[in-house]
Amino acid sequence: MENKLVIYNTLTRKKEQFIPLHEPNVGMYVCGPTVYSDVHLGNCRTFISFDLVYRYLLHLGYKVRYVRNITDAGHLEGDRDEGDDKFAKKAKLEQLEPMEIVQKYTLGFHEVLSIFNTLPPSIEPTATGHILEQIEMIKEILKNGYAYELDGTIYFDVEKYTQSHDYGILTNRKLAELLEGTRELGGQNEKRGRLDFALWIKAKPETLMKWSSPWGWGFPGWHIECSAMSTKYLGTTFDIHGGGMDLQATHHTNEIAQSEACNKTSPAKYWMHTNMLTVNGVRMSKSAGNGFLPKELFTGNHPLLERGYSPMTVRFFMTQSHYRSTLDFSNEALQASEKGYKKLMQSIVTLEKLKASETSSVNVSELEANCYEAMNDDFNSPILISHLFEGVRIINSAEAGGETLTQTDIELLQKLMHTFVFDVLGLLPENDENANNDTVGKLMDMILNIRLDAKKNKDWATSDKIRNELTALGFEIKDTKDGFEWKI
Ligand SMILES: [Zn+2]
Repeated sequence: MENKLVIYNTLTRKKEQFIPLHEPNVGMYVCGPTVYSDVHLGNCRTFISFDLVYRYLLHLGYKVRYVRNITDAGHLEGDRDEGDDKFAKKAKLEQLEPMEIVQKYTLGFHEVLSIFNTLPPSIEPTATGHILEQIEMIKEILKNGYAYELDGTIYFDVEKYTQSHDYGILTNRKLAELLEGTRELGGQNEKRGRLDFALWIKAKPETLMKWSSPWGWGFPGWHIECSAMSTKYLGTTFDIHGGGMDLQATHHTNEIAQSEACNKTSPAKYWMHTNMLTVNGVRMSKSAGNGFLPKELFTGNHPLLERGYSPMTVRFFMTQSHYRSTLDFSNEALQASEKGYKKLMQSIVTLEKLKASETSSVNVSELEANCYEAMNDDFNSPILISHLFEGVRIINSAEAGGETLTQTDIELLQKLMHTFVFDVLGLLPENDENANNDTVGKLMDMILNIRLDAKKNKDWATSDKIRNELTALGFEIKDTKDGFEWKI
């Protein structure tokens, strides 16, 4: 397989040629959502970015096993083993069983990702479905001397680990720097080192989600699930591990340490991280009040949104930035994307109707090569899109009688546009419902105002005729004090 794909590897901080461990197979693990609340847009961006990676690898002909987990237990509010259990807290709040919370938000998560047209992963394992694997892994880490037990809780011994390993390898930070970023140990926490993290947490009497283990009743720490499930489905070392960049410093750093301590090997060859979202230049977060949900973005029901934007507009907007750049939401940017997306889709329709010429005035093969070059350069979707817009220019010019294309080139251009727009970028044609509704709305206002005038002039024949004919077309017309209301 000819391969020019280059991936930016967080682990080495440079772009590297992508050479799979077991070509043509590729193993890819992406940290999935913690399903205790509605999926937020930052997560959507991460999963849409890895959908692009998955789609492109499939397009290149790799047999990809894409594993994306569901965290449905063990995630405390603080990423370092402090605070309440996220599920138990939400369950109390919504007066539901923790597993009802899990079910509710897993379904919601799947629904949103399907609206965004992301392909489902090959395997979607859950933390609660892999308690035994996690316990086995913890036993092995204990046996190898990298963990210790304190009254039913098992901690990973970071100090011991650093004697023979580089704990801060992923973020390129020395131990002293990492220690600076953590708080002094309080009296209530008796773990030995500040960076030590829990592999297994002893259940309190009120803990709802707990399992029996060699160390008594408890539940797994958040980080161990990904190590256990990636090892189970992809082996001790696999090709790509991905996630949001907020996972680098703790979650992924700990995953590497766990795998090294258990399997004596680094889990993944290439580490990929997606950047964060901003809104009008400010980091998107719940506390800043600028964190809108996908549904709010579709409906426009949020103070920061002028109106709603369709799922494909949002998907197109997201692919217009490279996954390693920040992505800034603003109404202007979304409206520009909406125009761009429509232009792109319209060009594909136009392309089907182009008439062939004797000669071509453009080089379509070169355009195709440019598209591959962009994606081969660390999945550079914005550059890819700029090349696709050269395609749009050619199509529109050819229709207007400017550029010319032979039949062979028309077919090559069709293949190129279909491959990159539908298969790789994962865009779908969308019924232009909003625009239609807009036009229909204006038409209805016009017709019903004519009817209103007719009524004022006591021209009952015209007024009734309009009403009856609209009713026959499926419109429901209601006369009100101020004029009229209608619905389809
Ligand atoms: Zn993970």
